[in-house]
Amino acid sequence: MPRPILATVHTEALRHNLERARRSALEARVWAVVKANAYGHGIERVYEGLRGADGFALLDLAEAERVRALGWRGPVLLLEGVFEARDLELCSRLDLWHTVHCDEQIDMLAAHKTLKPQRVFLKMNSGMNRLGFTPERFGSAWTRLNALTQVDEISLMTHFSDADGDRGIAHQLEAFERATRDLPGERSIANSAATLRHPDRTRGDWVRPGVMLYGVAPDYPEHDSAHWQLQPTMTLSTKLLSVQTLAAGDTVGYGSNFTAEGPLTIGVAAVGYADGYPRHCGTGTPVLVNGVRTRMVGRVSMDMITVDLTGVPDAKFGSEVTLWGKSEKTGAVLPIDEVARAGGTIGYELMCAVAPRVPFAEPEPA
Ligand SMILES: *Cc1c(COP(=O)(O)O)cnc(C)c1O
Repeated sequence: MPRPILATVHTEALRHNLERARRSALEARVWAVVKANAYGHGIERVYEGLRGADGFALLDLAEAERVRALGWRGPVLLLEGVFEARDLELCSRLDLWHTVHCDEQIDMLAAHKTLKPQRVFLKMNSGMNRLGFTPERFGSAWTRLNALTQVDEISLMTHFSDADGDRGIAHQLEAFERATRDLPGERSIANSAATLRHPDRTRGDWVRPGVMLYGVAPDYPEHDSAHWQLQPTMTLSTKLLSVQTLAAGDTVGYGSNFTAEGPLTIGVAAVGYADGYPRHCGTGTPVLVNGVRTRMVGRVSMDMITVDLTGVPDAKFGSEVTLWGKSEKTGAVLPIDEVARAGGTIGYELMCAVAPRVPFAEPEPA
């Protein structure tokens, strides 16, 4: 028998969250962002749930090939564009649209031999200061691109640094709008947080939701997934390997990190940091046992965690433990955002960090 740990992808929840994005985006088309192997879910596993999108956006050319191999004939966008000149050949062969964020990418395009002009998304750095042309240089980049026979339609894009927070998007949106006022082309500006929080201002022609499709609230803890009506798309579950009865003063695990104040029953669950469960999660991190909410106690080990069984009297060897997602037993939900917060991180990171040794369940029938 393999260890009982298992990750499950919920096709129906993906479909629901995509619909939720559409509701905010109204008339805009929706890129389903599937970078980082669909935020750790596996591109092939999310395809059925997300194929109702208007296109798939990602960064890695090998992932773009996988999307095409699934039979997707619609738009595919490379969010960071090409990394070297020969990537443009793959763009031609697979009909990939690509972002252009720097002069070097324009140089490569100018030298590219192709019969079929390519669709590009010209990226503005409107304040994030990672990728893109500054507003001052944007117009000249557009003019240069527009003169190339290798280039078909040019769309305009930017990315927000604070769509999830207090600073908001107004300063960047203003810079983007001012510098693009006289330029034709479709617009793409909104990630999940902007799509949900600023729907009236960020629809553009294409929205680019990622994390919300996977049931994570982009502005947690200000809002949670229930507030945004998002459903968990990944469940990480395992089973209890052992039950221990502690007396007052007994300690648990490495570093004797937790001390029982009185008699306490704990369970040992088959999951650890080598599975991608964050080691920074300490005593108090929420967990479901038999679908009942309880807490972790002590330190996360490589292959095990220990959980408080107070309030879960029927828990025994083999009982279901849900680390995040949905309990099969009761349907109770433990949002990944809560676990991430307990570990000092965000839901994005936990989903992406599920370790290769964790098997995924066969996809649920659609
Ligand atoms: C990752 C990414 C997105 C999606 O962001 P979320 O916060 O996951 O919605 C959108 N646009 C670009 C350029 C990205 O890199």
